[in-house]
Amino acid sequence: MEENVRAGRCVVAVDGPSGSGKSTVSRRLAAGLDARYLDTGAMYRAITWAVLRSGVDLTDAAAVGKVAAEVDLSIGTDPQGYAVTADGVDVDAEIRGPEVTTAVSAVAAVPSVRALLVARQRELIAKAGRIVVEGRDIGSVVAPDADLKVYLTASEAARAQRRSAEAAADVAATAADLARRDKLDSTRKADPLQQAADAVVLDTTELGIDEVVNRLRVLLTERGVA
Ligand code: C5P
Repeated sequence: MEENVRAGRCVVAVDGPSGSGKSTVSRRLAAGLDARYLDTGAMYRAITWAVLRSGVDLTDAAAVGKVAAEVDLSIGTDPQGYAVTADGVDVDAEIRGPEVTTAVSAVAAVPSVRALLVARQRELIAKAGRIVVEGRDIGSVVAPDADLKVYLTASEAARAQRRSAEAAADVAATAADLARRDKLDSTRKADPLQQAADAVVLDTTELGIDEVVNRLRVLLTERGVA
């Protein structure tokens, strides 16, 4: 524990389904800790953008894996604002659009895509040292030795409400899309969305962002890592 404080190392894994508050909480926590922030969903989205652009069949795992292996992906880790590029193109806005959102879970289910991105994510985490990482498999696969593992949840209604407000989309359609992605993400064979056995579970349905961030800060202090 003391070694962590001295070295300044602090890895926080934040997992959970879409709309559980992961991004806002993770960015704010990282900024407060003077740490880096990694949005692993953006990496899967950028690969999906490249796959869609290539025109390969989404169900052809070998072809999808080949596109993923060849794309030049870069992602920043500044919690105040980071850029995502694929083959030199700034894809930040496009990867949040409906085309990528609809296709991303299929691409993220391809084992070779996951192997590639998990390796990249581990490199980024090692380089940063102090970092908050959000995703679906961070505590279970990417960083099983994280100093703190958090699993955020929220009711389906709250999650759909939040996501539809962000995207200015219809609540019912958003709820259906979230349910579809949750199912794909939690039932896939390779690294499914799951709660790590040692994760702290927080239901954010009734909690404000600051409340969640404060609870995580308390947990980190108790563990002597921040
Ligand atoms: O978090 P976000 O909604 O941007 O993630 C988009 C998709 O990327 C998820 O629905 C999931 O299919 C995939 N993903 C994943 N593993 C991660 C992060 C995201 O499979 N660590």
